[in-house]
Amino acid sequence: MRDLVIIGSGPAGLSAAVYAKRAGLDTLVVEKDPVSGGQILITYEVDNYLGLPGINGFDMGMKFREHADKLGAEFAEGCVSSILIEKKGNEKETPVFKVVTDQGEYKTKTVLLATGASHNKLGIKGEEEFTGRGVSYCATCDGAFFKDKVAVVNGGGDVAVEDAIFLARGCKKVYLVHRRNELRAAKILQEELLSLPNVEVIWDSVVEEVKGDSKVNAITVKNVKSGETKDVETDALFVAIGIHPLTESFTDLAEMDETGYIIADESGKTSTPGVFVAGDSRKKRLRQIVTAVADGANAVTSVQDFLVGKN
Ligand code: NAP
Repeated sequence: MRDLVIIGSGPAGLSAAVYAKRAGLDTLVVEKDPVSGGQILITYEVDNYLGLPGINGFDMGMKFREHADKLGAEFAEGCVSSILIEKKGNEKETPVFKVVTDQGEYKTKTVLLATGASHNKLGIKGEEEFTGRGVSYCATCDGAFFKDKVAVVNGGGDVAVEDAIFLARGCKKVYLVHRRNELRAAKILQEELLSLPNVEVIWDSVVEEVKGDSKVNAITVKNVKSGETKDVETDALFVAIGIHPLTESFTDLAEMDETGYIIADESGKTSTPGVFVAGDSRKKRLRQIVTAVADGANAVTSVQDFLVGKN
């Protein structure tokens, strides 16, 4: 029986692993991918994490994992299908949870949900058909395939603008299609994007269709103000229209908002005693690496209190 099973090995899960090991908790991190790091693995450059300006996301993931390894954190690969409450806790006894994965089952007194979030899809004609043949959700993974070619990025947030800046370094031309006339991304990113000579923003527009034969060769764009549509020739469409929490396996376990984010304050305490949440799957204002790392630390402090009966 473990003291704590952490589900997910992004910044929140790895930060929690470091704090849990330092607190002497018998901890296991269950991760679904063979490489730790979560969403930062597909981030080309992280420029707002204190002390590490401009660090490559993959390198940052490796550093976080090395830190957890150095403290002796244990990891197991597996995709969690459910978490069962085998025994409810009471004033004298801690609860018993069974974490069920496709690779094994683990019993634990507490659980930390740090499963993060994943990219949204557009749901338009051609999107699924051309995924892997020009449609991508990860510019840092697939951008190199489009060197000296044309690429379109869809979205107006930090990820879309970062992707467009990254792609502009190798592509002949990059279009950013955004549904409004104002970007949501940080000002510093907007300024960099708008200074690039090979980037063109298509404002007030949505992507309606992806076209091609064996690969993407165009997208249809609709101006939402005029209603006009036009085809834009491109070799790639990078979709960067936000994220959704990966919490669908835990709907019976923790209270969520209507979009699936788990409701908890900074303590990470969910509606089920003994179940905690940290990182991008928690309902909160700012989803950044720094807030995920802080969530992991706070949640472990709550776990410690819980295990000694303080909450
Ligand atoms: P986001 O901030 O939610 O932005 C999503 C963008 O996609 C918005 O511009 C939105 O338009 C647009 N959009 C949403 N649905 C759409 C649809 N169906 N069709 C067309 N456009 C659509 O998401 P994100 O950029 O993926 O970032 C996720 C989180 O990670 C954010 O909290 C972000 O701040 C954070 N992040 C931070 C950094 C950094 O600090 N360096 C880097 C990456 C990510 P509207 O603007 O009109 O809503």
